[in-house]
Amino acid sequence: MNFVLHGHAVSGGITVGYAHLVSTARLEVAHYEVDEDKVDAEVKRFDVAMKLAQDELYELKAHIPADAPAEFSAFLDLHRMILNDSALSQAPRELIRERRANAEWALVQQMERLTERFDEMEDAYLRERKADVQQAVERVLKAMMGGAITSDSLAQAAATEEQKLIVVAHDLSPADMILFKRHKYGGFVTDVGGVTSHTAIVARSLGIPAIVGLHHARQMISEGETVIVDGTQGLLIVNPDPIVLAEYRARQAELKTERKRLKRLKSTPAATVDGTPIELFANIELPQDMTEVLEAGAEGVGLFRTEFMFLNRSELPREEEQFEAYRDVAKAMKGRPVVLRTLDLGADKALNGSGEQHTMPNPAMGLRAIRFCLAEPQIFLTQLRAILRASHYGKVRILLPMIAHLHEVEQTLVFIASAKQQLDERKLPYDKAVEVGGMIEIPAAALALPIFMKRLNFLSIGTNDLIQYTLAIDRTDDAVAHLYDPLHPAVLTLVANTIQTATRGGCPVAVCGEMAGDLQMTRLLLGLGLRNFSMHPSQLLAIKEKILRTRLADVQTMAQRILRTTDPAKTRDMLTELNA
Ligand code: PEP
Ligand code: MG
Repeated sequence: MNFVLHGHAVSGGITVGYAHLVSTARLEVAHYEVDEDKVDAEVKRFDVAMKLAQDELYELKAHIPADAPAEFSAFLDLHRMILNDSALSQAPRELIRERRANAEWALVQQMERLTERFDEMEDAYLRERKADVQQAVERVLKAMMGGAITSDSLAQAAATEEQKLIVVAHDLSPADMILFKRHKYGGFVTDVGGVTSHTAIVARSLGIPAIVGLHHARQMISEGETVIVDGTQGLLIVNPDPIVLAEYRARQAELKTERKRLKRLKSTPAATVDGTPIELFANIELPQDMTEVLEAGAEGVGLFRTEFMFLNRSELPREEEQFEAYRDVAKAMKGRPVVLRTLDLGADKALNGSGEQHTMPNPAMGLRAIRFCLAEPQIFLTQLRAILRASHYGKVRILLPMIAHLHEVEQTLVFIASAKQQLDERKLPYDKAVEVGGMIEIPAAALALPIFMKRLNFLSIGTNDLIQYTLAIDRTDDAVAHLYDPLHPAVLTLVANTIQTATRGGCPVAVCGEMAGDLQMTRLLLGLGLRNFSMHPSQLLAIKEKILRTRLADVQTMAQRILRTTDPAKTRDMLTELNA
């Protein structure tokens, strides 16, 4: 059966490939085909693990401590019952035989089917039993694999499958996406997620088509089905007929030609038709992203999201490891600016994949970014020392995320002074005049800009969070994704005022949120006075082309008119006119 699903487009382009279903991070398992003559052994492996898990539950019940809560015994019985259900004890055996699938994957497939039914239940008590099913299955998985499932299993899955695999998942965390970064996939689609969630941002940085917010893709698509991901329109076409397939293949070829054409602009200086130079910087998550940055001809790194180096690991990176990573990026840019953002952990980027965010009442507004760093002086000082040491090897700048209070900046400056002193004691070189800037991503900071300009050397507008906090919309939640509006007059007013106030006060200002890489917004931002854009390298050349075709004098008046308009329909019409 062929059908089309609509979601939110997060990363442009078209891929045709085979669906590869991926489970939630906690129960992520590899999928591989077992040899024909090993199928019986695989079924046996499944049976043995099931028995081990059942025995373990019996054992636990036989030795319940006297002071254990009364429900404990009932809970063990429930898990045994769950494992005895034929949906888990029999169906995976059939899947192993029919598909020659590995046992872990067959079990998790069945578990997903079962838990999806729980999601639809009205009764809250029954809905919550989903967690029991997952825990019971985890016990079997542990018995099968001795624990380690994630990065290695993903590598195995990617290595043994066809190249063009499309990852189909209910949800993926930014930490999951970083794991995917190491392997070649053709595209990503998820049931949930917002357009500027970090998951979407990493998908974009991979330069492959991606769609979020498809709602039931994970449920409706089967492993191995042919799918087309149209990441520009947000369309997922499942089992396309030959005519549709041919049409998309033709469009794919056009896009390839287009990318080749844009490559010619790599060394062309970015400037408007009337000769105003514009700085185009790149955003990166990991040092290995530098290859793409250099290929795109970026004039600097405008945002290094350093926290991504801290995900998917049980121990924090030490000073030496951080220093080497930052130094490599600084060296690669050969004296051009590298803006290192201090840790922006928290919200959707939990440390150690701890799922810590679920225990905070409101993670996006909790102990995140600079707040987290100031509460963890040792982690913060270690990073500051590493950044300062790297400043000896290039033009490094420090950027503070999520500032809202002057005292946060002042405290950070004291930390930087202590880090410098510690390096002096160790006789290690660093740039004594290293510049410190702040991210304007909380409306309070945008509204009280002059306070911050006095203490900071530069500013960078983080439109992703600025929109989230101005409009009170969780950027990771697809249920409110339709309300995420960069053109909202409140957002535009904050962005415009920040650019204007900073420019008048002689404080360099950039935009490093996703707005900077959105072709629809380029002329508007230029018209509002922006001269420094930082974006994912994959977007840089297209933005450069747009700038090369823009006359500042033409866009300034229209930008001011858009700013004054109160009618959203008119705003959109004017934006279309601006981009014509
Ligand atoms: C932003 O908020 O716009 C930004 C650039 O930072 P991040 O997306 O990492 O929160
Ligand atoms: Mg941000």
